[in-house]
Amino acid sequence: MACLKDPSYLILMNGRIQGEIRGKKGLRHGAPISPLLFVLAMEYCTRMLCQASLDKRFRFHPKCKPLKRVNLCFADDLVIFCKGVSSSVQIMRDGFTEFCLASGLSANMKKSQVYFGGLDDRETHQLLERLRFTEGCFPLKYLGVPLRTTKWKAGDCAIIITKIQQKLHTWASRHLSFAGRAQLVNSVLLSIRSFWMSIFMLPKSVTKEIDRLCRNFLWGVKDSNSNRSKLHFTAWNQVCLPKCMGGLGFKECCTWNTVLLAKFVWAVSSKQDILWDVSWYWRRLVRLRTVFSANSLAEALKNDKLCLKVLYHRLLNRERVAFANVVWCSLVVPKHRFILWQATLGHLLTRDKLHYCNLDLPSLLCPVCELEQESHAHLFFVCPFSQQIRAQMVD
Ligand SMILES: [Zn+2]
Repeated sequence: MACLKDPSYLILMNGRIQGEIRGKKGLRHGAPISPLLFVLAMEYCTRMLCQASLDKRFRFHPKCKPLKRVNLCFADDLVIFCKGVSSSVQIMRDGFTEFCLASGLSANMKKSQVYFGGLDDRETHQLLERLRFTEGCFPLKYLGVPLRTTKWKAGDCAIIITKIQQKLHTWASRHLSFAGRAQLVNSVLLSIRSFWMSIFMLPKSVTKEIDRLCRNFLWGVKDSNSNRSKLHFTAWNQVCLPKCMGGLGFKECCTWNTVLLAKFVWAVSSKQDILWDVSWYWRRLVRLRTVFSANSLAEALKNDKLCLKVLYHRLLNRERVAFANVVWCSLVVPKHRFILWQATLGHLLTRDKLHYCNLDLPSLLCPVCELEQESHAHLFFVCPFSQQIRAQMVD
């Protein structure tokens, strides 16, 4: 049997061969397998550091001592902890250097920083001389989220608001339908906060501001540049209900935040191996235990995984609505679904409602038949024009 070697690929375009690619073996940058190999390499790094920590002269960071933990790492984000004395720092440094020599990987000095706690200037200076890293200041960021030893302040979450504002800035909302805007709010704006909410309880002022930005984007803001009206009849609470409960399927910030953190409550109750040493955070989780009983957690468990949707629906504690399946039928055009949703709730801007809001209108009559005042009941059931259309559809 002949051995297959040196494959090549020809590119055929418009009936002519336009070029050739020679096949090769090996790893290239961005190969699907490279993240997996990297995880293996970092596991080796963890073991090297743990091995180094067995040295008798090594002292753990006070908070890491009970767990004998020297590092945390996720992909290429690595944090190493030790007591701020030169012998411990040197041992960690030697362990890491050994890993670098063995693996060929090295730390990016421009992106690496060292953080000190409870050291005086002289000690700090000595360690900085030895390490040759720049000194960072708290709160330090890990995976894009600031880590602090105290409760989060609104200022720490300013980046979420900025990110949402940046998105809103680039979107030309004037040319989008309500359905399009609702889709963008749900899939982009609200998912920005979800990453943060799955880790921490966001301060109330931040969740309020996110809600305000999303609400203004959905319904429009009345200003000099835009003629979109801000007038609407659906409360944000209603919009933030699941579709089966009569809403648009947005997740209500505070409740969803609580539910996202339920996975930690569950992890603690089922004693999974997670680090729990941040006291204020721990107290907050303990408080959440009163929200999620052992029974409710057990009910939300599917194939050993916590189904957050079940918990969320349970916390909302609202009746399901009968019209959801009709309104959100996937065969209907999204724009029409949105109008039907508003019509079902009786929230369309009909003339009787506008009059109720003291808006100055030339006439309250239905613009199609001009026989009766325009209302939901008239528009969809009484108006001769809509009756005619219905009769045609039945035929
Ligand atoms: Zn009419």
